[in-house]
Amino acid sequence: MAKVSSKQSGGRLIVVANRLPAKRVRKGRSWVWETSPGGLVSALHPLLRERGGAWVGWDGTSGGRAVKPFDHDGFRIHPVHVTKDELDKFYAGFSNRTLWPLYHDALRAPEFHRRWWWPYVEVNQRYADAAIGIMGKKDTVWVQDYQLQLAPAMIRAKRPGARIGFFLHTPFPPEELFAKMPWRRQVLEGLLGADVIGFQDKLSAMNFIRTAQRFTAAKRHEQGLLYNGRTVIADAFPISIDVSRYQDLAMDPEIVVASERFRAAWDHRPIILGVDRLDYTKGIDIRLRAFEEVLRRGTISAKDAVMIQIAVPTRQSVDDYAELRDTVEQYVGRINGTYAMTDFIAVHYVYRSLPIRELIACYLAADVMMVTPFRDGMNLVAKEYVVTRTRDTGVLVLSEFAGAASELNDALLVNPHDIDGMANMIEHALELDAAERKKRMRALRKRVESHTVHDWSDSFMTRLAGE
Ligand code: UDP
Repeated sequence: MAKVSSKQSGGRLIVVANRLPAKRVRKGRSWVWETSPGGLVSALHPLLRERGGAWVGWDGTSGGRAVKPFDHDGFRIHPVHVTKDELDKFYAGFSNRTLWPLYHDALRAPEFHRRWWWPYVEVNQRYADAAIGIMGKKDTVWVQDYQLQLAPAMIRAKRPGARIGFFLHTPFPPEELFAKMPWRRQVLEGLLGADVIGFQDKLSAMNFIRTAQRFTAAKRHEQGLLYNGRTVIADAFPISIDVSRYQDLAMDPEIVVASERFRAAWDHRPIILGVDRLDYTKGIDIRLRAFEEVLRRGTISAKDAVMIQIAVPTRQSVDDYAELRDTVEQYVGRINGTYAMTDFIAVHYVYRSLPIRELIACYLAADVMMVTPFRDGMNLVAKEYVVTRTRDTGVLVLSEFAGAASELNDALLVNPHDIDGMANMIEHALELDAAERKKRMRALRKRVESHTVHDWSDSFMTRLAGE
């Protein structure tokens, strides 16, 4: 359960996030709202129930009329309506084709279009207005993520005395990349409306502090910045997972049996697993090429190990994503064409999202987990794998460029751009002696167990309360 300290329980909590924590599903003849699974929802649910409050977010529809506010699971839901055209420009456009690549090292060229910027402003205003409309004097607001960076200042403009927090789930880019954005000042000023701006790691917080000093009137202050006579804290609050949920599932006998079946189906060969949205930030293409390099060297063959890649479909209408899918599928075909034997394949590729129970069976079956993004805010898959290794078996190979790397430094850390280095690391991971594996995995598991998603929300709320 979340620890909610007494000082935090002053007013209610208003969460403002792109999506609502529930979605409408059909049950028989009627529609019902079902809570969506996910870390953020499980972190904020206990707080919302304890303090009372509301969640403002998009209702998941783009046609028809706005859904009216309603009570759900112990708090109030305030749907925001976004039209199809706005979704294309505010979400698919500005959020996912301007901000997403810009905030991930410009791995793809960010596109800057005024026709996307204005809907971003308008939709942010709509979320802000929804929050303003329901805020009491003592209420605290917590805005989430890159889609809503203007909302803190928009709320501050109408409620100057409010406690406002903001958390960025993605990285915040270095000054020289951020500088490319034509609306850089507006975005920074939007964020500076908050009292506490949370980032996944220190590097992002430092990038923000430097950038804000360059492009706004903000001045360095010991905990962050001084802006318009207010202190704005900018610091690292690394997000985590609902550890007990994953560990309960990892000990569920049905899931354990499923994982054993899974291993038997692969002839008990060592399994090297990757689980990612098929996003260009995740490094799936280079990971496959690193495995191909190992096979080319001949240090292992397809009968010695199998790579399983779960690739979750995402943003399929965007060209960059369609191209990445083609590339990845070409690599899988090429690797199997060259290195599979008549009775053993080298790479097993699944282009689908797995339900959580199946996903955990995969985690339990995997000897080596490859989490090798080029850039990632945190990467929860790495933490999920670690906490489900309740017997401290398995090896985590982790990119230096994942937010998780600053906490999980007992993993085997790799540079995901270095194909040969990654190939060496795959060989090393497969050979690592049992005592070393156990020592590393135990340290990793203890680390994640000691900082759950409830600790994350609690530490953020404590700072926001001014303690
Ligand atoms: N996930 C899932 N089914 C899958 C693959 C992934 O439910 O088939 C979940 C996974 O458990 C994790 C989330 O998707 O909680 C991915 O989060 P992460 O931070 O790793 O990456 P993101 O997709 O948010 O960039």
